[in-house]
Amino acid sequence: MHDFVEVTCPSCFQVFGVPAPSPLECPSDVDYDCEVCCRPLRISFWEEDGWVEGEAYGLGD
Ligand SMILES: [Zn+2]
Repeated sequence: MHDFVEVTCPSCFQVFGVPAPSPLECPSDVDYDCEVCCRPLRISFWEEDGWVEGEAYGLGD
């Protein structure tokens, strides 16, 4: 099963879906580019009740 997690871009504040890793691989952080503004960001994934949740955050510029 391939889940998508909706995250909010920290730069343009648009919401987009990203493919979630397996719950077994959580928690994890991945590099990603916003699909709306293409700025780099990081997404933190964690497992919660069998579902993978995610949240995007900026690179701390
Ligand atoms: Zn963006």
